[in-house]
Amino acid sequence: MNIVLLGPPGAGKGTQAKKIVQEYSIPHISTGDIFRKNIAEQTPLGKKAKEYIDQGLLVPDELTIDIVKDRLMQEDCKTGFLLDGFPRTVFQAEALDLFLKELDKAIECSLLIEVPRENILVRMTGRRMCKNCGASYHVTFNPPKVEGKCDLCEGPLVQRKDDTEATVKERLKVYDEQTQPLIDYYAAQNKLIEIDGTQDIDVVFDKAKDVLKRFE
Ligand code: ADP
Ligand code: AMP
Repeated sequence: MNIVLLGPPGAGKGTQAKKIVQEYSIPHISTGDIFRKNIAEQTPLGKKAKEYIDQGLLVPDELTIDIVKDRLMQEDCKTGFLLDGFPRTVFQAEALDLFLKELDKAIECSLLIEVPRENILVRMTGRRMCKNCGASYHVTFNPPKVEGKCDLCEGPLVQRKDDTEATVKERLKVYDEQTQPLIDYYAAQNKLIEIDGTQDIDVVFDKAKDVLKRFE
């Protein structure tokens, strides 16, 4: 099962990804999580990525593509993987397809989580993220069982620096200009499946499972 999750920032990709990978026992590859880990560890990659992330811009393709290629070569991706937040440009999608072809693999489905703009700002400004495992919560829509603590690993919940109103607006602009074209890219390959992301988290997950059972 080789899956890509697509959708604007705040659509619920990370939230659904955690559930999907648990259900299907495949690795969750989130480029955002990889960058945030590198930022926390102050690696050279983290330092470079931070300059872009803090402004709501995309990290350049040449820094991003190789990270994903390395990750996809790891043993645990042999039986499948879930990409979350990658690809984000047509160039990345083409590089991914070429790379997978070399491995005799292909993306089977691009699951697009659709959420209208008016829901996004409130979702993102209320988002809290586990510093440890990257799990996503919302102060109102999906609060943790214990305030400030991750349900999954008990790590501390923090607000992302790029979840301020101004940065969210920039990220949405970047999405429209650079990531939205991927909808046509996967539709042209007959791989695009849309689900409504406005319903409750568990309802969205049921729909996702309904779609993904075809690829089991
Ligand atoms: P993405 O990974 O697409 O940026 P997240 O999964 O982090 O988005 O979700 C963004 C915010 O919206 C989080 O605070 C999350 O708890 C909340 N959220 C996710 N799915 C839903 C939903 N179906 N209904 C309401 N809030 C949601
Ligand atoms: P996310 O956690 O997916 O919301 O990503 C957070 C930030 O990391 C984005 O706003 C980008 O700055 C950067 N990022 C994540 N994935 C990519 C990608 N595939 N290409 C470029 N930048 C990315």
